[in-house]
Amino acid sequence: MSDTEDITATILRMNNDGSEKREILNALQDFERRTCIRFVTRTRQRAYLSFEPRNGCASLLGTVGDKQVVSLQRSGCIQRGIIQHEVLHALGFYHEHTRSDRDQYVKINWENIEKHNFINFRKMDTDNLNTPYDYTSVMHYGRTAFGRRAETITPIPNRSVAIGQRSGMSRIDILRINRLYRKTAVRGVVDASSCSLFITSDTKLEREATKDLQVLPATLDVGI
Ligand SMILES: [Zn+2]
Repeated sequence: MSDTEDITATILRMNNDGSEKREILNALQDFERRTCIRFVTRTRQRAYLSFEPRNGCASLLGTVGDKQVVSLQRSGCIQRGIIQHEVLHALGFYHEHTRSDRDQYVKINWENIEKHNFINFRKMDTDNLNTPYDYTSVMHYGRTAFGRRAETITPIPNRSVAIGQRSGMSRIDILRINRLYRKTAVRGVVDASSCSLFITSDTKLEREATKDLQVLPATLDVGI
């Protein structure tokens, strides 16, 4: 963990313990190695992420401005890609298969999805940060998510493309984080010290987070 004071990216409080805590730290350190985001241990900051072993793998979208729980259930959620997926929600990122141009890349099989789960597949008005659609994104659901073994997401035109990996952030996931959070880049090289604060002044992000919180109190990722 970085304890540099230049960037307070996200403040943590760990309720998980032992090997779980180690796995969470590893996932966050991977963030620090590959992006301009820095995590520091909470002291008295008002806004912070609290990693807790609650029900399911879940996170609010964007910054709440106060205590913000990232739920990592002990069975099923303590895995690098899942931890990073939930932190990416907190950083303001939606699911890849809901991005604005998704209909060119995936077909949603609504007939295999129960109505109360439609919300998890609804197309969003996303800022894609000039990055291509990414089947390998850690934010992409697997093809049977919420489908009880039936296929809910089919890649098009090539339906055999692999989707839904949870081993860790993809190259494009990393690119997006750095594009959203860095203040400046010199010839495309991201300087870690140029990363903007987690409590972003990006009004678009704040607006989207607020809007999303109203309709989607938590992004529940059980069964991905
Ligand atoms: Zn999610």
